[in-house]
Amino acid sequence: MRLGYWLKKILMVEILRGLFLTFSHLFKKSVTVQYPREKKPVPAGYRGIMSLLRYADGQERCVGCGLCEIACPSNVIKVVSAEEEDRPLKRYAKEYTFDVTRCVFCGFCVEACPVDALAMTPVYEYAVYNKRDLFFDKEKLLEMGDRYFPAQGAKPDYIGSCESELFLLAAKAKGYPTKSEAAGPPQSEDPDAKREGPAQ
Ligand code: SF4
Ligand code: SF4
Repeated sequence: MRLGYWLKKILMVEILRGLFLTFSHLFKKSVTVQYPREKKPVPAGYRGIMSLLRYADGQERCVGCGLCEIACPSNVIKVVSAEEEDRPLKRYAKEYTFDVTRCVFCGFCVEACPVDALAMTPVYEYAVYNKRDLFFDKEKLLEMGDRYFPAQGAKPDYIGSCESELFLLAAKAKGYPTKSEAAGPPQSEDPDAKREGPAQ
């Protein structure tokens, strides 16, 4: 064991192996890609620049929960969440910013998103003249999603549903009117009945 080790050292076996491998490439056909005119296809699942997705009906998937922001190890994402004006307790990302220069393309944010609102595009060219061009806002991220993932799935029934017990309890605690309260008193079909008032 020890003798073999010293023989390898003295005869420089590892160095000779390395040299042999290098010289063997002299007789192989070289592969030259004329980038950027020629581009090799990226493998499936490549982690390029991030994008935000929509449902098939055009509604944004993101519900502004901020889990992607928490999961990100590089503080790339900033989410400002807000409640939708006409849909009580329904939240969305009022602002969503993504700093490409800080991203390490680990994919943790994609894994963390509960509604599959994030997807990584095959875009790997980040060279720009102005570094600020790599600071994406929500519109830019949605545009990337529309371009690279145009075929989106339908919205599941539970998204946007206002019928769950938890939702109704939370709405009640916040003082929102129930559906029947919001609809107002039932309209009488006989207009004279209103004028006459209730029977004594
Ligand atoms: S891919 Fe990784 S580093 Fe980039 S935004 Fe997502 S979690 Fe952050
Ligand atoms: S992208 Fe997903 S995880 Fe991030 S805020 Fe939107 S819904 Fe939440």
